[in-house]
Amino acid sequence: MFATRLERARAAMADAGLDVLLLSVGADLPYFCGYEAMPLERLTMLVVPRADQATLVVPGLEAPRVVERPDVFTVRPWAETENPIDIVAGRAGSAAAAAIGDHTWAGFLVDLGAAMPDTTFTRASTITSPIRSVKDAAEIERLRTAGAAVDRIMARLQSGEIRLAGRRENEVAAEIAGQLREEGHDRVNFVIVASGPNAASPHHDAGQRVIQPGEGVLFDIGGTMVGDDGVGYCSDITRCVWVGSHPEREFLEAYAVLHEAQQASVASATVGTPAEAVDHEGRRRITDAGFGSYFVHRTGHGIGVEAHEDPYLVAGNAEPLEPGHAFSIEPGIYVPGRWGARLEDIVVATEAGPRPLNRVDHGLAVVER
Ligand code: ZN
Ligand code: ZN
Ligand code: ZN
Repeated sequence: MFATRLERARAAMADAGLDVLLLSVGADLPYFCGYEAMPLERLTMLVVPRADQATLVVPGLEAPRVVERPDVFTVRPWAETENPIDIVAGRAGSAAAAAIGDHTWAGFLVDLGAAMPDTTFTRASTITSPIRSVKDAAEIERLRTAGAAVDRIMARLQSGEIRLAGRRENEVAAEIAGQLREEGHDRVNFVIVASGPNAASPHHDAGQRVIQPGEGVLFDIGGTMVGDDGVGYCSDITRCVWVGSHPEREFLEAYAVLHEAQQASVASATVGTPAEAVDHEGRRRITDAGFGSYFVHRTGHGIGVEAHEDPYLVAGNAEPLEPGHAFSIEPGIYVPGRWGARLEDIVVATEAGPRPLNRVDHGLAVVER
């Protein structure tokens, strides 16, 4: 699998006139070789010359973490007193054009620029994103497994099994984080628990606020499940719950608009549809209902080994959806100082139509406590 992926990267490098691909921290590295760099101060870098064997340059003390794959790369551990920049520059040879991982620490790019003065650097995502964004059947199955896990947690929030009223947001968030792990995630990427007016901040950090009866609570949760091959796939879902018996009418009406908009966007996500059209489909419904100025973000992001990746469902992205594109569809309405709501599923574009990977109820759940 990794050999095939690198083969595709090399073909793309040839098309783009690139001599070497340099991958460090971030999701490209595990995707292409099954090893994830520690995001620390010592350089880890996979050097992939277009026409030569790849080398994983790795700190000696981290080398025991590497699962060797001689058909994919050779390992070059470096000792504490060696200079890894020189090692990479030596392997990269006299490359005129290099692509370097977007998440590489800037310090290393500066040092590599000095060590390779005749080389121009471009973002590796120009090569890696188009490859990563199209998922094969095995990848979709892993996204589905992760999606089913967060569906089960959301069902517990919707049924009231996880108690809300009278608890602090961060207390509930900690319980959900534990469940993400129990349900098979190796990493918890985020647990947004946003109660009442806090839900008007789309990326609210769960804090000290105590959840009250008579308000809505927004949950946006996700993690990563890492497979035996060292590659992880992400989950991401948002649902809203009303605490107390009778949801406020304004909230209920807005939620109905949001629900309809989200379903319309999902239904529109067919192969060949421009990414921006999926955004437009839901946004125009929210706008027609008078909430347009409260929908302050794009409709969705691609998802795979990274929680946010290509393709982005946003006005201006005319890229047509391809079979195997996996992305979130997550419109929201945020009224500052008052309340917010969002509804999010992961969806895969297939020849048979859009396939949602999240199945848990989309309605506004009402819990007594
Ligand atoms: Zn977000
Ligand atoms: Zn989310
Ligand atoms: Zn999302």
